[in-house]
Amino acid sequence: MDFSLTEDQELMVQAVRELMARESWDTYFAQCDKDHEYPERFVAELAELGVDTILLPEDRGGLDAGWTTIAAVWEELGRLGVPTYVLYQLPTLETVLRVGSPEQIEKILALVGTGKQIWNFAMTEPSAGSSFAKMATTYTRRDGKVYLNGHKTFITSSKHVPYLVVMARNAEDMDQYSEFFVDMTLPGISKEPLDKLGLRMDSCCEIYFDDVELREEDMFGGEGEGFARTVADFDLERFLVAACDYGWALCAFEDAARYANQRVQGGEAIARYQLIQEKFANMKIKLTNMRNMVYEIAWKAENGLLGKGDCSMAKLYCTRAASEVVDDAIQVLGGIGVTGDHRVARFYRDLRVERISGGTDEMMILAAGRAALKEYR
Ligand SMILES: Cc1cc2nc3c(=O)[nH]c(=O)nc-3n(C[C@H](O)[C@H](O)[C@H](O)COP(=O)(O)OP(=O)(O)OC[C@H]3O[C@@H](n4cnc5c(N)ncnc54)[C@H](O)[C@@H]3O)c2cc1C
Repeated sequence: MDFSLTEDQELMVQAVRELMARESWDTYFAQCDKDHEYPERFVAELAELGVDTILLPEDRGGLDAGWTTIAAVWEELGRLGVPTYVLYQLPTLETVLRVGSPEQIEKILALVGTGKQIWNFAMTEPSAGSSFAKMATTYTRRDGKVYLNGHKTFITSSKHVPYLVVMARNAEDMDQYSEFFVDMTLPGISKEPLDKLGLRMDSCCEIYFDDVELREEDMFGGEGEGFARTVADFDLERFLVAACDYGWALCAFEDAARYANQRVQGGEAIARYQLIQEKFANMKIKLTNMRNMVYEIAWKAENGLLGKGDCSMAKLYCTRAASEVVDDAIQVLGGIGVTGDHRVARFYRDLRVERISGGTDEMMILAAGRAALKEYR
């Protein structure tokens, strides 16, 4: 397997590096994190490079670039301290072309390139988290219209996105799960923002749907196809989390390595002490494993070889390994790692949330374990 980048991929990584060198984005991200603000100005700059169209086909103005380009770009962005979790919804824009109606596609594509938050998906409910099939949100047909009723929770980006794809069950046939492309300005929708430990540059809300009137044309994909659509797209979401977390671990490792080489205690650079060296050996092993896993999965996806449990395994491994690397990095940084606005402390908080959002560690273990056993049935 050859993980070397093509010329186009190298150029994209170089463009990211140049954007990052243009100003002190670290200060900007620290402020956005403190204020719970989406870093829209930065995302708009990335959109100038085409990062928001990475998986869109060329005839839709996209780069049609594939998962390896995502791995390379996310690795470099992460290495330079970017909160790449705020980009999760960008590669998923490809879903609208596959599933959406011409009207829905037009609405989404009109916002591409602006840096603004565009959409997200809502499945989770207070009583239906890991087992989201138990959801209670329903849709009912009345007088030629469709009415949505229910309560979703922990919905990322929902404070600002203009559209949300909401999963609901047919009140007449609860085995039928369908999705609706919901304009968030419709009457009957209310929101309550939630505070959270990490991933604070993106919002997260409780959303209430009280008899929200929709048209038949607002259905996203075919009736009864919502559950299968969601499960099929989990792979990309989990791959993005793995790539994101690997990037931050690399950043934390490099920050800690530079610090260890120049920080003098007891007359020696702390890098000379064996207990510090042991941490770097362990960090390097985990980084190597994470990188190999992320690039291997990208290669498999592009060659039609992606296994059922691959992305769950990568999300599980990378969130945990990255958390351990970041923990070691903080230890090396000592007091400055836990005071002020050090980006490594932010990664520590963000990673803790990543082990729950997008599917918990436990659900990743179950998915990966089942897939491994199936091969030997
Ligand atoms: C920051 C954040 C952003 C999110 N964004 C979105 C979003 O945009 N859209 C969306 O739809 N959802 C979103 N979610 C919801 C997320 O997917 C759920 O939080 C997650 O699936 C877990 O659900 P829960 O929190 O209800 O925990 P629960 O499902 O109640 O789980 C609690 C604990 O029990 C364990 N557990 C549950 N079932 C089993 C089992 N069968 N075997 C073993 N252990 C089990 C879990 O692993 C966990 O440790 C987000 C969550 C967070 C925290």
